[in-house]
Amino acid sequence: MQAPANRISRRATLKRGAGALAGLVLTVTLVANKPALAKAAKSDLLYQDRPHGGQSCGECKFFSADSKSASTGTCSLVEGVINRNGWCTAYSPKA
Ligand code: SF4
Repeated sequence: MQAPANRISRRATLKRGAGALAGLVLTVTLVANKPALAKAAKSDLLYQDRPHGGQSCGECKFFSADSKSASTGTCSLVEGVINRNGWCTAYSPKA
């Protein structure tokens, strides 16, 4: 007796399931091993240690104040110590 043409065999189903599982494992592995996004160099964003017009890091949403210094902090986009009165081209005011 011959199986109908539109019927999916058990073997084909197992092959598809194995392929999907392999794809899922690969995706999870890639995501788990993905390095954290690196911050940009100051020069890449034209960072300067002085305000630009009325804009400064202290009023930027990416700035985090340093608990030990009132004048410095860190930026979630730019590497290194950031001056509260600095500025770069990625400036974005706090909401
Ligand atoms: S994104 Fe630029 S302006 Fe904003 S805190 Fe970072 S360095 Fe300063």
